Amino acid sequence: MGFADRYLHAVNSSDLRDDEHHHATDALCAAALANVAGAGLGALLSRVKYADGTQHRLFESGTANLASLLRIWTERVIQKGRERKWVKEGSAWDAQAAQALYRRVAERSLAYWLDGKCPACSGSGNTLDRRICVPCKGAGRSEVGGAGFERERALDMVSDLEGLLQAHNARAAAMLRSQPDV
Ligand SMILES: [Zn+2]
Repeated sequence: MGFADRYLHAVNSSDLRDDEHHHATDALCAAALANVAGAGLGALLSRVKYADGTQHRLFESGTANLASLLRIWTERVIQKGRERKWVKEGSAWDAQAAQALYRRVAERSLAYWLDGKCPACSGSGNTLDRRICVPCKGAGRSEVGGAGFERERALDMVSDLEGLLQAHNARAAAMLRSQPDV
C-alpha cells in the first residue's frame, strides 16, 4: 500500500488500538509528524483530497476540513500574491480589488486541484458513444476559470498545491519507512 492508501485506511478506521491495527496508527502518527514539519497545510491537503469523499460536492456544501483548508489556503495565496506583486496595492480601491483577486484565485485553484474533471464527460475525455468530448477536447479536465492573468495565477497555485501535497506525502512516507516492523 502506498502512503495515501494507508493514510486513507487509518483515518477511516474506527479502531486505533495499537495491536492488530498498529499499521493504521503508524500511518496516523507519521501524518501527524509530517504535519508538524509541514506547518499543517500538507496534512490537511492530504486529508481533504483522499479522505473526504466526493470533493466537488463537498466543496460546494462545505465540511470542517474543507472550510479550514480554504481559509488557510486563502491566507497563503494572499501572502504569495503580495510577495510576487500580482497587483500594485497603491490606493484603498487597489487593495480591495487585490483582496477580491486573491480570494478568487484561492477558491478556483483549490476547487480545480480537488476536482478538476470535465463535468461533461466526468474526466474520461470521451462521450458515451465513444466520441471525443467537445468541451474538454478529450483532455478530461475542466477549465480552472477566469481569464488571462487571473487564470495563469490560479494555475500557478494549482501547481503549488500539488507541490505541497507531494512534499507532505514524501515526508510521511519517509517516516513510515524509518519505523521498524512496517
Ligand atoms: Zn470532457
